[in-house]
Amino acid sequence: MLSPLQIILDEESFVRQELRKGRDASTGPKLAQHGLRTGTELLKKDQAGTSRRRLPVCKETCSWCCRGVKVDVSIQEALVIAEHKRSTLSVEMFSQFREQIAQLAEQTRDLHVDDRARQQLPCPLLDQSGSCSVYEVRPLRCAGHNSYDASACEWSCQNPDLARDIPADAAQQAIFSAVTMGQQRGLVAAGIDARSFELVSALRVALEQPNAAERWAKGERLFDAADRRIDREDREAAFRDLSRTYGVDLPPELAHSTDPMELFRALAAAEGRPLPPELAPPAPLRMEKTPNQLKRERRARKKK
Ligand code: SF4
Ligand code: SF4
Repeated sequence: MLSPLQIILDEESFVRQELRKGRDASTGPKLAQHGLRTGTELLKKDQAGTSRRRLPVCKETCSWCCRGVKVDVSIQEALVIAEHKRSTLSVEMFSQFREQIAQLAEQTRDLHVDDRARQQLPCPLLDQSGSCSVYEVRPLRCAGHNSYDASACEWSCQNPDLARDIPADAAQQAIFSAVTMGQQRGLVAAGIDARSFELVSALRVALEQPNAAERWAKGERLFDAADRRIDREDREAAFRDLSRTYGVDLPPELAHSTDPMELFRALAAAEGRPLPPELAPPAPLRMEKTPNQLKRERRARKKK
């Protein structure tokens, strides 16, 4: 198994380098594509490195897991999906797609994750043949999700009230989660909004806000409309479940936290161990030279 920590640090370093080069409308889509490509290559390497490894049975055309789920995406993933749709659909189809996303965002505004599962609500990115229409730019969350048994996925989709563990490759999930975390750290260091949101609400903002990709890359927080109360409650519940699994008593100030880094910190504190320095909050990104410094240098040269 590859080191998740190394994956986090490598991806963070890539994001920092990219952001030092400049920020424009292509920044978010570029980062999202790099994340998916990196995760996919690392997964292949990991699978090739062990002969006894059982492999998941997932296929592009299998989609039980795309029904009744709530997918979390990063902002850069919402931006690349919006870009993909804009470049592959006709003007009329694109406008219909935008309308469909806006309606679905309204319909699901207060829909709890369990009700989503009960209604088997299909992801709006599924095409008529049952494949993901944005497979080449799908979210890391989808790329990490997997199963050794497609019939277990089908059964769970059709019996949402009966919990059943789906056997899956934890290494695949860990690789894509580590890439996600690396990207988050790189963005946080540069002061760019690194939050994640539910897919449909984030996509709506990415499709409707003028120049969303460029404004986000320049540091604007324009995705507040995607931050829905129901998603926060779901994430808080998942966070509390996770902390119970690890047997950690959360301090009161973390009662509403959804940040896995907070859980790491609480775990380390509960065990009386310092947090590994590599997982401490990322240091702020330092540009080689700021635009103002360059301007001052140019002026000084002219004076000479
Ligand atoms: S997770 Fe399950 S439903 Fe999804 S692609 Fe894999 S086997 Fe199919
Ligand atoms: S984005 Fe694609 S892979 Fe992910 S849930 Fe939607 S259809 Fe499935």
